[in-house]
Amino acid sequence: MLLSLLHAGLPPVAMKPVKLFNSLGRRLQELEPLEPGHVRLYTCGPTVYDRVHIGNLRTFIFEDILRRTLRFFGYRVTQAMNLTDVEDKIIAAAGEANVDIGSFTAPHVASFFEDLATLRIEPVEHYPRATEHVAEMITMIERLLEAGYAYRADDSVFFRIAADEDYGKLSGIDLDQVRRGQRVQSDEYGKEDARDFVLWKGAKEGEPEWPSPWGPGRPGWHIECSAMSQKYLGTTFDIHCGGVDNLFPHHENEIAQSESANDSPQARYWLHSEHLTVDGEKMSKSLGNCYNLGDLLDLGLSARSIRYLLASVHYRQQLDFTFDKLAEADRALKRIDDMRFRLAHEAEQESDPAPLDRAASDFENAFAAALADDLNTAAALGAVFTFVHHVNGFIDHGLPAGGRARVEASLERADQVLAVLDAGAWAESGEAEGSLSDAEIDALVEARSEARASRDFAAADRIRDQLSEAGVVVEDAPGGSRWKRS
Ligand code: AMP
Ligand code: ZN
Repeated sequence: MLLSLLHAGLPPVAMKPVKLFNSLGRRLQELEPLEPGHVRLYTCGPTVYDRVHIGNLRTFIFEDILRRTLRFFGYRVTQAMNLTDVEDKIIAAAGEANVDIGSFTAPHVASFFEDLATLRIEPVEHYPRATEHVAEMITMIERLLEAGYAYRADDSVFFRIAADEDYGKLSGIDLDQVRRGQRVQSDEYGKEDARDFVLWKGAKEGEPEWPSPWGPGRPGWHIECSAMSQKYLGTTFDIHCGGVDNLFPHHENEIAQSESANDSPQARYWLHSEHLTVDGEKMSKSLGNCYNLGDLLDLGLSARSIRYLLASVHYRQQLDFTFDKLAEADRALKRIDDMRFRLAHEAEQESDPAPLDRAASDFENAFAAALADDLNTAAALGAVFTFVHHVNGFIDHGLPAGGRARVEASLERADQVLAVLDAGAWAESGEAEGSLSDAEIDALVEARSEARASRDFAAADRIRDQLSEAGVVVEDAPGGSRWKRS
């Protein structure tokens, strides 16, 4: 199969289709989107009760690599990433701070978009928020009630797992091991079966609430992703992603809700990234090893090296984060920068261009094949360093005419996926002072609009200042905010 690459001027690479490891069925499968050439992708986003940590960012970078890989192979991608902005932890923390949940979550929403921009994670098409989609969730719960998959108990509504014959097909969970007599949370006393999960929680004093056919209350967590994925991507879409902790119960419950309500598959491919640990331990506040991006940047570490490290380990392997590995990432990037510096300053000679052209083609083929093999970023980076080694050899023995452009074009194409190879782009995007890329400006303008919508004017002003330092002027028009470079 000949897949067209986006980069103009270079021949397309002949290669195999993209293979991905589907957690549903636990096997490698060729990607065949429902609509040829167009992939619909849903990725579970952050719970905005704090700044996201580097574990979350590992998962978001894996999803960015997936998105960029699909685009690299010529697919159009429509992606939605939700923001969980109502949930037990948020309600508890907002209550303690004595503010409404919108004011509480606004700075965390803003910092989330800032972190994405800093790590050059591409903005996606839709960032739906749970609090803005309660009507869609109510509609889905009504369908589940009508079809007998849900029942009311007190002021709440629960999903009836016993009614769903293929419950467990994603995780392979043995439901008999989930003991029927297990402890039932105090707000879930009315359940028929301890394994059932909540779709709608009846209102409690002092908590945010929405009107519903079952009285005031708020949605459970799982229903938000079922309702929002359907709204933005359709009843059946292509790929659904998250970290491994999402697999059970969150994704299992999403499947139960969506497929019982619609009688059709929710997503055809389920991809899960392994967790990030720090110094061999699970991240936790009590161990003091729970880092966010700001903590690392404050230590003087480079965002580019952080992206490199988070992207360099295959997504289905645990990634153990250490400061030594970040230093290694720095050194690896320096090898690339040194070669590119030499390349930029080396005079070209009248020698045969064929060997260098072959090395570049071999690199492009190996790089693309590694990504098509379940996003093997480790092998893709291996191909980069083999190429760096070869190019250094060509420079040592005389760079042929056209060699510089050939090498740069190959690296530029690879960097459409990796987004770490070009030191200049990082210098421009905030590693040093300078201007922001268009995508980063879009993400910051979006973050500012989010902050303003939640009336967090301090965060909105901070982002405006950041934009203006980078020479970007934002104009607020009735249809939304526009920006221009001053
Ligand atoms: P949360 O904000 O907890 O809903 O998580 C947002 C995303 O980050 C989800 O896809 C989680 O699966 C993922 N995630 C949470 N903790 C980690 C971790 N330590 N390593 C990698 N991904 C994580
Ligand atoms: Zn989700």
